[in-house]
Amino acid sequence: MTARVLVVDDILANVKLLEARLTAEYFEVLSAFSGQEALDVLAKERVDVVLLDVMMPGMDGFEACRRIKSNSHTHHIPVIMVTALDQPSDKIQGLESGADDFLTKPVDDIALVTRVKNLARLKTLNDEMLMRASTSRQLGLAEDDALERALSGRSGRVLVVEDHPRSGVRLLEPLAKVHDTFIETNPQRALQMLTDYDFDVVIVSLSLQQADGLRLCSQLRSMERTRHLPLIILVEPGEEARLMRGLDMGINDYLIRPIDRHELLARVRTQIKRKRHSDFLRNRIEETVEQAVTDPLTGLHNRRYMESHLETLVREALRSGRNLSVLVADIDFFKQVNDSYGHDAGDLVLREFANRMRRNTRGIDLACRLGGEEFVIIMPETEIGRSYQIGERLRACIAAEPFAIAPGLSIRVTTSVGISTLESETDTPQTLFKRADQALYAAKRSGRNRVNAAA
Ligand code: GH3
Ligand code: MG
Ligand code: MG
Repeated sequence: MTARVLVVDDILANVKLLEARLTAEYFEVLSAFSGQEALDVLAKERVDVVLLDVMMPGMDGFEACRRIKSNSHTHHIPVIMVTALDQPSDKIQGLESGADDFLTKPVDDIALVTRVKNLARLKTLNDEMLMRASTSRQLGLAEDDALERALSGRSGRVLVVEDHPRSGVRLLEPLAKVHDTFIETNPQRALQMLTDYDFDVVIVSLSLQQADGLRLCSQLRSMERTRHLPLIILVEPGEEARLMRGLDMGINDYLIRPIDRHELLARVRTQIKRKRHSDFLRNRIEETVEQAVTDPLTGLHNRRYMESHLETLVREALRSGRNLSVLVADIDFFKQVNDSYGHDAGDLVLREFANRMRRNTRGIDLACRLGGEEFVIIMPETEIGRSYQIGERLRACIAAEPFAIAPGLSIRVTTSVGISTLESETDTPQTLFKRADQALYAAKRSGRNRVNAAA
């Protein structure tokens, strides 16, 4: 990952130390020696994460953080506060000024890299999400609710796996104020809950009396449903070896006991956001894929989808010796509809035509709009006699009922249909189509509003 980290500290030695450690992990590092200088850098440069010292002369870290978070150009940049002492009051003030996480001096290597990686990843997802949302807005697609939810780190579903009663209560109390929080003492039951229900983050104690928390973590990472579920572990001081194993396994973050409630809240919030951002992006990708294979006017599959799918169907039918038929339908004198009633009326006819077509196909059939006023139905496991009946049923249901194109105005529409069926090993999607097309044009020539099967 090549994230850019801005290190802000008034003492040169501190900047150099952090810079050396981050560079060793292949981060790109920028530096600033005062709050004001940090703001100047942020105004000019792309920065993914800010490491901000609290105690600086002039503008202190809290004030710098407040300014970063209140400026609409920089408010989405994650800020990690570096506090000199383990002062709870510093953390409260840090959270209030908008900090995303904390590190205490002297800065621990694992903590530094874990914090920076988590927040850099969050920033990448966040940038991508905002970019897609802005494209969607330009396309006129509203998605403010989905976006709003994805941006928020509040009201998540959190599962805490902890069997020490007092520690359980201490974790539950602050979390339950902001999230739907559940506690489970038994890892097997926790696993069941996580497979049955949606959670945003799971917190696992590595000091369980009855079981090994790391085992649960590894099970969660290996199951499809929970592979991407954010995972935070609770470790005892001095448990570096187990912490490293957890990190190798792919846990997302950790907290060292005694648990600081502000750190707890900050880390849970970051993980919830990360999950929501990636869910948001994944849903967008699914929708984009959906759009690429659907005809926007009728909601039927489009030509591109049909062509790639027919290839597979032909191969499969030839392999298994099953039937496969293709029906091509073309609306008769459709140009006249546009010419007499306008293009919008034409569109209404196309939509209604598609609806009637859908009603006349089985689930296994594939109905598509090829383009213009040409439609296709691909019918697996259907021989030519049966597909002729289906074509005839479609023709009749188009001709029988007039199409409404305006209040009180309906017009008669007819369609011609050509059919072909898979005949030999040498058939391809192209030869199938060609025969259906020839049959269709024969139907047109012999008077339209009729079905014709390829000879
Ligand atoms: P035929 O019976 O021989 O099929 O005659 P036709 O008029 O249906 O055929 P032709 O191919 O001459 O005209 C097709 C018309 O379909 C021309 C075009 O303007 C119209 N058309 C194509 N796509 C659309 C569309 O998306 N919406 C509308 N409203 N019209 C379309
Ligand atoms: Mg036509
Ligand atoms: Mg045509």
